[in-house]
Amino acid sequence: MAEPLFKRLTLIGIGLIGSSVARIARERGDIAGEIVVNARSQKTLDRVVELGFADRVEIDPGRAVEGADCVMLCAPVGAYAAIAEAIAPHLMPGAIITDVGSTKQSVIRDVGPLVPEGVHFVPAHPVAGTEYSGPDAGFTTLFQGRWTLLTPPPGTDAAAVAAIETLWQRCGSMVECMEPAHHDRVMAIVSHMPHLIAFTICGTAVDLAGETNADVLQFAASGFRDFTRIAASDPVMWRDIFLNNREALLEMLARFTEDAQAMARAVRWGDGAYIEDKIERGRAIRKSLIDLKQA
Ligand code: NAP
Repeated sequence: MAEPLFKRLTLIGIGLIGSSVARIARERGDIAGEIVVNARSQKTLDRVVELGFADRVEIDPGRAVEGADCVMLCAPVGAYAAIAEAIAPHLMPGAIITDVGSTKQSVIRDVGPLVPEGVHFVPAHPVAGTEYSGPDAGFTTLFQGRWTLLTPPPGTDAAAVAAIETLWQRCGSMVECMEPAHHDRVMAIVSHMPHLIAFTICGTAVDLAGETNADVLQFAASGFRDFTRIAASDPVMWRDIFLNNREALLEMLARFTEDAQAMARAVRWGDGAYIEDKIERGRAIRKSLIDLKQA
């Protein structure tokens, strides 16, 4: 077996993503010699001990990162600034601080200025997930064949970037570097907007009058059911994503609203060709995703 990439990996936050990384590191043995886990609540840490994928749990974030050569932030992005402030004085010189947050400009804004001299900062985002959360939700194949996007600020130590790239490859992921602003615009349309639409459509359905509401649930067709699956995602995580990718999300929402208005006009005026053309484009996108093995 290859030497572990890191002597000690500390995970701050241990939900779906953090616990998947921990499970993989535990199973493979070539990612970290020791796995230390920190979360907000003792209840979560007690559960981590039961699940058995950490060598040590630590409720104090500062103590959790002491002696770690890699620290990975796996909490909701809105908590990053406070976490970075708490851990910064305890980070070891030469350590790498990385993350898994779904927004990247905000992470660079919130964490970047707090990273001490001599510590390397490699922001990352594994583009893989489910609607489940918490330490029980993780599993070892989550990142298999999925992309992880790295957004290292200019001048980041190349060896640190290469180490994080290797970490994600060992997790089964394909890795690419991207500009943070570009990352946030792409994610706004492919991930954040679909969630916004799912949360909204479920809200609209529930707002419908009493007996209709019951029928909505009883006769839920597959289209609505698919939206409810997405809408079951963690509220804090998604609140933080929306608030931390504000500009890109509002831009995509404005474009979407225009396109939805055009569709409404076609429906109103009986423009069947327009409607058919839009559906054809949707089908073509589905086919390309299947061809890219990302469906
Ligand atoms: P999750 O399952 O909801 O778990 C969040 C974890 O963060 C919990 O262990 C929680 O601890 C901890 N936490 C919250 N606030 C904290 C704080 N202030 N200090 C320390 N720990 C704190 O979350 P997740 O789905 O794994 O998402 C984690 C990150 O990955 C987010 O930044 C998200 O944007 C990103 N991401 C998510 C997905 C996805 O589909 N879920 C995909 C890609 C990236 P307690 O249990 O003690 O509260």
